[in-house]
Amino acid sequence: MPIYEYKCAKCEHVTSVFVRSATATVSPKCEACGAKKLTRQMSRVARLRTARDVQEEYSRPEDANRDPRQIGQWVEERFQKYGMNLPKDAREAIEKAREGQMPGPVDDL
Ligand SMILES: [Zn+2]
Repeated sequence: MPIYEYKCAKCEHVTSVFVRSATATVSPKCEACGAKKLTRQMSRVARLRTARDVQEEYSRPEDANRDPRQIGQWVEERFQKYGMNLPKDAREAIEKAREGQMPGPVDDL
């Protein structure tokens, strides 16, 4: 079950919200001051798990057959779906893939 964290725009208190599913609608309310203007925070646990999932899937052999531009798009869409920012290393890997440099052992040629 995903946990979303929302930071209050007024008092900066972080409220954790349990969500039944990734597609469920959430109407968060600050548990400290009751304000409804909250911004979604990165959930540390979910981000780490998702980042690893993405990296694992990203390195699957069949991905080598994809258009490099599609690989990046797919990864970005996946992170967007979870409302997360792409980790810096994943972003760099995508940019390299788009330039035709697949991540992996360095070629000595
Ligand atoms: Zn508040």
